[in-house]
Amino acid sequence: MFKALIPNESYNSIHDIDLISLYKKGYRNILIDVDNTILPWNSNEISANLRKWIKQSEVIGFSVFLFSNSSPSRIGKLAQMLNISAIPKGGKPFSFAFRRALKYIRGNRNNTIMIGDQIFTDIWGGNLCGLYTILVNPISTREFWGTKVNRFLERLLVKRR
Ligand SMILES: [Mg+2]
Repeated sequence: MFKALIPNESYNSIHDIDLISLYKKGYRNILIDVDNTILPWNSNEISANLRKWIKQSEVIGFSVFLFSNSSPSRIGKLAQMLNISAIPKGGKPFSFAFRRALKYIRGNRNNTIMIGDQIFTDIWGGNLCGLYTILVNPISTREFWGTKVNRFLERLLVKRR
């Protein structure tokens, strides 16, 4: 069980990820969490840096999809603002949610990466589904109360960078 909680890679932020080497390894799709991965929790303010990161990913050859447990209407609007697609429903960490996401993006476990800030939703779920998982440090310390509980458990289990 513990192995499923360990990400394949971990970084301070999405900007530290070596996208080119991931592309060379055959990955083509990026499922990316929203809250505290690309935006502060519950924020809808998109920075120029974030736009640049998404543009870079697309130029390299990736398709980027927002994959969040937050409300589909909020995530849909953010995706529209970023000019990318969103997975219509969340459901992380459950396997059915990841399988549904892969089906939606027409991707598979060999060409899809999951990036997120939470071990118990993004990483655990991604690993169970066989995806390549990348953990980043949360952007802010403000978060959903349920997440705070998860953080406590994370600290008991895994040492973050
Ligand atoms: Mg998150």
